[in-house]
Amino acid sequence: MMKYIPIVFVVLLMCYSCDSNKKTKEIRKPNIVIILADDLGYADVGYNGCKDIPTPNIDAMAKEGIIFTNGYVTGAVCGPTRAGLVTGRYQQRFGSEFLPGPRKRSENVKVGVPLTETFVSTRLKKLGYNTACFGKWHLGGESGDQDLFPLNRGFDKFFGFLEGAALYDDVNNKERKYMRGNEELVMEQEYYTDAITREALTFIDENKDHPFFLYLPYNAVHAPLQAPAKYLKQFDHIQHPKRKLLAAMNYALDLSIGEVLTEIKEKGLEENTLIFFLSDNGGKPKGNYSYNLPLRGEKGQHYEGGVHIPFTVKWKNNIPENITYDKPISSLDIVPTILAAVGEPIQEEWNLDGVNLLPYIKGDDNMTPHETLFWREGNKSAMRTLDWKFVKVDDKVELFNISNDPYETTDLAAIHPEKLEELMKLYDEWNANNIPAQYGRNPKEFPIEVIRTRRTELPR
Ligand code: CA
Repeated sequence: MMKYIPIVFVVLLMCYSCDSNKKTKEIRKPNIVIILADDLGYADVGYNGCKDIPTPNIDAMAKEGIIFTNGYVTGAVCGPTRAGLVTGRYQQRFGSEFLPGPRKRSENVKVGVPLTETFVSTRLKKLGYNTACFGKWHLGGESGDQDLFPLNRGFDKFFGFLEGAALYDDVNNKERKYMRGNEELVMEQEYYTDAITREALTFIDENKDHPFFLYLPYNAVHAPLQAPAKYLKQFDHIQHPKRKLLAAMNYALDLSIGEVLTEIKEKGLEENTLIFFLSDNGGKPKGNYSYNLPLRGEKGQHYEGGVHIPFTVKWKNNIPENITYDKPISSLDIVPTILAAVGEPIQEEWNLDGVNLLPYIKGDDNMTPHETLFWREGNKSAMRTLDWKFVKVDDKVELFNISNDPYETTDLAAIHPEKLEELMKLYDEWNANNIPAQYGRNPKEFPIEVIRTRRTELPR
């Protein structure tokens, strides 16, 4: 009998060891990555039919995850839409309706997302995550207010710039907008898209054994149109010089995304990393030459081309692969989905406007995530339900049957006034919980000019 004891002991030990490994695996919270493109139009990813610019890595990610065919952002321009994304709340709730600056409503306003709002980075940091933001911030701090810098909004690391745009080649342009942490950089040697990716790869490697949150708001493909020869040379087939530049920038972005996804795979983190990819607003065909067709409109407008963007999510073996999800969803849903993925209960007093998408995309919930989505930017507003959408500029309002007419070709406002009235009523109810914009451009509304204290005397 005695001779069996060691075997039993070994088996027990193995079982304990298996169980222990399993527990370790279960306890490890998933990593979170948000890859945000800038001004990338709906039509400029391969999976949406782009023909002149290959985006194999974005397409591969879409195939390995879920394509949201009706994915929206909360604004038609950069800063506001980002404010909604990182807080999970409509930016009009807290006055971040316009781009940060150059004027503000009153002396005590800080130009950026107010400190009363909690970023998802802060929530994740409290849960023990290592956090980083590499790229374009545009959430405050441009006037030198350090409270609004990334390191004071839940990020351990920051490499990038605070403003709405930056030149891509620091060596020749000598713009010197880039920062590391809170400090200005004297010079960045690499093409900015590549530099952001370099930082991301290092961060993933450093955190391969620890839960991390990586927010990657690339400034590509926002203007100015700049790309090095190594990317431009792929696009001799494109005649239009500006579209050619856009193509090279888009291609560089796609390569970068490929490198990030490969690093996650190679570090064995693919099954434990929830990754979102989206654009912060639509393209501007006569600006950065990014296209939205067949969607109507462009960046700055509430037609589909301004707010309906490429949007995918991937989480290997945790959510389905290679499917589309067609009901309207919002960038507001990213925060609640992240919190659900990491097991953090959402408190009612946080007043999040988004929903956890996991039950919907897994097919556990067949209802509609959002009965209504809203937009407001000064004199412009819009709203959509599953089937209807209104777009209003000043007193001009158009009504579309968006499910039958996704390209907004036929205004039905005169034919269905009762429907328009119904939507307007819902809009007013939503709008009642918003506050006036706290900063913007119009001197009548924002009497105080913001004095920029940063980077006035940088070395040239
Ligand atoms: Ca943008």
